[in-house]
Amino acid sequence: MPELQALRPAVFIDRDGTIAEEVGYLNHVSRFRMFPFVAAALRRLNEAGCPVIVVTNQSGVARGYFPESLVHEVHQLMMQQLSKSGARIDAIYYCPHTPSENCNCRKPRTGMLEQAARERALDLRRSFVVGDRHADVELARNAHARGVLVRTGYGEGELAWHAVKWPTPPDFVAADLAEATDWILRQLG
Ligand SMILES: [Mg+2]
Ligand SMILES: [Zn+2]
Repeated sequence: MPELQALRPAVFIDRDGTIAEEVGYLNHVSRFRMFPFVAAALRRLNEAGCPVIVVTNQSGVARGYFPESLVHEVHQLMMQQLSKSGARIDAIYYCPHTPSENCNCRKPRTGMLEQAARERALDLRRSFVVGDRHADVELARNAHARGVLVRTGYGEGELAWHAVKWPTPPDFVAADLAEATDWILRQLG
């Protein structure tokens, strides 16, 4: 059994609307557009020794909108673009299911985070979730992590129209992933 001290905090990051432009169902690799500030932000997390883990709901697979191979193709492109800028994603988890399948991995359920925690010796309570939907903030709450909402993607609209009825507000609201990273690095000290 690993010592508790060996468990590390991680930053779990949503893909669509947070790392890349929200385009609805990203059903072709040509529609992938990474935000320009992402590589520098991830590089800072890499340098801080903080694992960067992407967690994304991709129900378009189960809905038959695109094959599962496309998810891998998009992730390969994302990793390639990042590595050209000296940035790294340590792991990617995705949920291919629809809500009606009632799986344990679709955000805001915590299956992907729990799997990552087991596989990578992570301390979820000291970890962070960054995303543009309230489901990402709920995911953070469900995992006892801290949630950061970004204003990119759906974020601005989520704040404008839905924030008043959220049972749990985000721990921090950031303009984008760059500002979210500033805040997270301050919390990590
Ligand atoms: Mg999103
Ligand atoms: Zn799932």
